[in-house]
Formats: sequence, C-alpha cells, structure tokens
Amino acid sequence: MLELRNVGFEYKGGHRALSGVDLSLTCGGIVSIVGPNGSGKTTLLRCIDNLIHAEGEILLNDRRISDMTTREIARSIGYVPQSFTGSFPVTVFDMVLLGRKPYVGWSPSDDDLRIVSENIARLDLSEFTLRDVNQLSGGERQKVLIARALSQEPNVLLLDEPTSNLDIRHQLGVMRHLREIVVGKGLLALMAIHDLNLASQYSDYVVMMHGGQVYAQGSPNEVFTRENIQTTYGVDVAIHQHGDIRHIVPVEEHNVAVMAHTSI
Ligand code: ADP
Repeated sequence: MLELRNVGFEYKGGHRALSGVDLSLTCGGIVSIVGPNGSGKTTLLRCIDNLIHAEGEILLNDRRISDMTTREIARSIGYVPQSFTGSFPVTVFDMVLLGRKPYVGWSPSDDDLRIVSENIARLDLSEFTLRDVNQLSGGERQKVLIARALSQEPNVLLLDEPTSNLDIRHQLGVMRHLREIVVGKGLLALMAIHDLNLASQYSDYVVMMHGGQVYAQGSPNEVFTRENIQTTYGVDVAIHQHGDIRHIVPVEEHNVAVMAHTSI
C-alpha cells in the first residue's frame, strides 16, 4: 500500500540525502528504519509525508502523494517529529485535538472529543490533560505528539525516533502501545529508530539505510547481522539469541581498534 519508486532527494546547496530508494510496504506492521546518523532516515520520512518534495514516485494505495491535498495526506498519514518547541501555551488536550484538524468543521464533535480522550488515556497522559505542553518533560511531550498523530486516525504512522527521549520503562510502554495500535487498527507504522535492540524486538520488517540508500531490508534476523552492522555503522557487535529475543552488543575492544584506524 505504500510504495516508493526510485526516490531521491537533494537539499538546497547540492547535498544529496537520498538516492534510488525502492520500498514496497503493506499495511499492518511496524517497519523500523535504522542506519547511522546522516544516513537519510528523517529525510525519507519527510518525503513520505510530502513535507519535502522527493524525486521519483511515492504512492499510497496507488495514488501519488504529490497529487494529494494537504488534508487528504493528513487523513492518511500521521507524522510524529523528533520534538517540538512551542512558543505559546497550549494544553495537552488542545494539542492532541489538533490531530482532529483534518476532520473538524466549525467545532469538534463528540466523536472528536472522545477520540482525543481515548488517545490521551492510551498514552498514559490523563493526569496531564490540562497541563501546558511546555511544562512537560521531553518524554511526556513525545507521547503527546504520538497521541496527536493517532488522533488523525491515519493508515500510516511515521515516527521519527519516538523513543529517543524516553526512559527504559516508557520506551517499552510506547513500543507496546504502538504494537497494540498497529495490530488493532491494521496500521503501518514506519519508525526511524536508533536502538537496534528495540527495533529487533518490535519490528516486523527492517530497512537499513547507508549513505542515503537502502543497504538491506527484510526481517530483523535477516537485516541485523554482524556484517551489515559492521559495514553501515563501522562497529563490531556480538549477537546473542535468548529464546525469541536477540541482543546486539557492541564489542568494545574492536570498536577502539576501528576508531583508531579511522582516525589515522
Ligand atoms: P538521519 O535522520 O539518518 O540522521 P537525515 O535525513 O537527517 O539523516 O540527513 C541526511 C543527510 O542530509 C545528512 O548528511 C544531513 O547532514 C543532510 N541534511 C539534513 N537536513 C539538511 C538540510 N536542511 N540542509 C542540508 N542538508 C541536510
């Protein structure tokens, strides 16, 4: 349902951030986009949300997103940025209600208010409902952004490092919520993520980026190999399997050797 054909992007000034990206993703799963800093993960998500205009074709249910109106895109795709900096006070409730903007007429309906309250509760934010979002921690704010995107009731959810500001308990909480929502509503969640262990544990599919291109894609077991991680991140790892769970652990001595080598 989400298809990328030969997608590329060059920033002003000539910096090429993406080239030749081909992906074909179906609904109902968590897809992690991994890769080192600067490999093009955020640029890819922003192209899919049509925030920046990519070369090539991006199709959602066989329609080019470049042909869709902003409102149509907002009803289909929810985007959760890494963070936001607000300059004026807004309550958690009003911020999440903004997710209903693509649907709301003159004033929000009972249905809009119910959806907002449900998503606030789902993300464990009920106690903050009337708090100014500027007075929340980074992790709480990140959850508000997720609740806002879920309130758009999209088919595709794009998340840019949704766990980066969260402690380990909240990381697991958000990933579990995400899995429940993805399974329950048949959503496609496309998530840029740094934590390879979380990605390995919670993803149905992994896309590994390197230098603006897709280096590998497939199941977590297929993509998270020692060789792929070594090539893309320049880090040697050991991979331990405990039942269904794989642990990717950097091998310290070798990292030092790699760093010494690359700094010469
Ligand atoms: P990632 O999310 O994997 O860290 P990004 O998509 O943010 O990577 O960046 C990809 C490349 O594009 C990087 O080399 C980055 O420096 C460059 N880049 C990102 N944003 C801009 C911008 N606004 N102008 C110019 N280059 C940019």
